[in-house]
Amino acid sequence: MKSKSRSLLTGCLTKHNSGLGLTLATFGLALLAPAAFADWVGETRPLMGTEVSVYLWSDDPEDGRLALEQVFNEAARIDRLMSTYKHESEISKINREAASAPVVAGDELFGLIQRSLDISVLTLGAFDITFDSVGQHYDFRSRQRPDAETVEDERSNLDYRLVELDQAAGTVTFRKEGVRINLGGIAKGYVVERGVDLLRHRGIENAIVTAGGDSRLLGDRRGRPWMVGIRDPRKDGEVAISIPLEDEAISTSGDYERYFDEDGVRYHHIIKPSTGEPASGVLSATVFGPDAVLTDALSTSVFVMGVERGLTLLGTLPDYEGIVINAEGEVFYSDGLMQPEAQSHD
Ligand code: ADP
Ligand code: MG
Repeated sequence: MKSKSRSLLTGCLTKHNSGLGLTLATFGLALLAPAAFADWVGETRPLMGTEVSVYLWSDDPEDGRLALEQVFNEAARIDRLMSTYKHESEISKINREAASAPVVAGDELFGLIQRSLDISVLTLGAFDITFDSVGQHYDFRSRQRPDAETVEDERSNLDYRLVELDQAAGTVTFRKEGVRINLGGIAKGYVVERGVDLLRHRGIENAIVTAGGDSRLLGDRRGRPWMVGIRDPRKDGEVAISIPLEDEAISTSGDYERYFDEDGVRYHHIIKPSTGEPASGVLSATVFGPDAVLTDALSTSVFVMGVERGLTLLGTLPDYEGIVINAEGEVFYSDGLMQPEAQSHD
């Protein structure tokens, strides 16, 4: 099944072969036609080790600017809580102490760890926040990676079942010394979901909030759908596929975001828990659906699971669809994106 490239699309997908010039997001997703934002309130800022951008429509531009600030402040707040790069963050405290004694986590962090563990069960371990036991040994900027012995040692610390949550006490405990958690595969989705929530509560009806490869759309682009582009994973700045979407979340995970190449091997930031090595076989995995927290975690999971297992998983989630580009550059679509006549060609 699902072994060949699916090029027949529903009417809602279009393919682009040429670059589209300026793009708003520099990572997995690229918005089309930024000129269309001329009258919108919007900005892009470096945050969470990536870029966060907010574009919203407001009849009162001053109020729009305030709304924008509120979203950026929220992103910074979440980053302070959940960044493993910040020594004083709640998650860093857990990583330092949870192997020795239960550590109390605030409701928000506790909730996101709980969701992460649930998604590990759903994805049969493809999504695993303890990936960081191995992941911590990478530094992509200085082309640093763990040697085989380190990977082998740390693999025993890479298992979401080593994380124990006590619901009543609100505590996190690691069952083993050496375990580390990192919410890098889900926190940006949480940020964009929270950002859009804030805007919605302020009465804003049209907006897009993007953090790295994760976007959450609020409403439409004032009478037209948002056009969201999936990057060509091997042609910088080019869009492979663009998708019109409204009121949805979309996340892309790619092997071209944080990586270095060595002896023909690409070492990148998505770890396959069963091997402890960067996942191979997929160049990019995109998932869209109602909740950015889940699209973020699922895009990482589908990347790890590969075309067949990844799309099979999406087939069990009625509200979620996906597009996967394999190592040969072939494009595969989840069943819900196919026209009935396209399916009959299989
Ligand atoms: P981005 O950070 O560009 O949004 P993804 O959503 O694809 O990228 O998530 C990749 C990040 O997820 C990595 O940088 C890392 O922090 C984390 N990660 C890597 N492997 C896994 C995994 N198997 N399970 C959960 N999180 C992972
Ligand atoms: Mg993701």
